[in-house]
Amino acid sequence: MKDCALLTVISGFAGSGKGSAMKGLLAKYPDTYALSVSATTRAPRPGEVDGREYFFVSDEAFEEKIRTGALLEHAGYVGHYYGTPRAYVEDNLAAGKDVLLEIEIQGALQIKKQFPAACLLFLTPPTAEELKRRLVGRGTEDEETIRKRLFRASEEADGIEQYDYLVVNDDLDTCVETIHRIIQSEKKRITRCLDTINTIREGVHAFSEI
Ligand code: 5GP
Repeated sequence: MKDCALLTVISGFAGSGKGSAMKGLLAKYPDTYALSVSATTRAPRPGEVDGREYFFVSDEAFEEKIRTGALLEHAGYVGHYYGTPRAYVEDNLAAGKDVLLEIEIQGALQIKKQFPAACLLFLTPPTAEELKRRLVGRGTEDEETIRKRLFRASEEADGIEQYDYLVVNDDLDTCVETIHRIIQSEKKRITRCLDTINTIREGVHAFSEI
């Protein structure tokens, strides 16, 4: 019997390694997970491909998506819009895939309101110093953007208690496996398995009627 699909939100400070963790999860369990590709108005970084990392759109196109209800949630982050396309998430959940949203905290809380059964994970590097080192080290942002992202990290740090799980990303493989186990265990909660329980219960009750 198939468990019902779970919607999981993964947030974390810039430099927490969320992107690598998502890639690792998809590479290891390609049939289990579907990672939503967000729309954003920020410019692509070197190596990023439209439709793979993000759908890179203009402000006008993004605002049109908001107006037409094409986004499940959206938020502003360091001067740009980011949002989750609705159709992909709904279609993949309906197809039984565990859908992953790699989004920031405002979006995560909007999702929790719309999907109270969603599971919220927060990813963090082992220390604040390591976070800064990773953010500066990846060399994809100028100094001002790094400063803004560190400021945003300090705001996000105050919201961590609103998440369900904390994952410390010390080692990438361990982190990927921890996220996988959390999601798959979460799906075994009694409250998420009521259809299965009812089917088994009916079958068992039928024995006592013989
Ligand atoms: P980056 O510019 O580093 O790719 O992403 C900046 C932040 O935006 C990250 O915290 C990332 O998780 C978040 N983000 C990416 N896509 C979405 C989205 O669709 N909605 C929201 N709310 N945040 C997003």
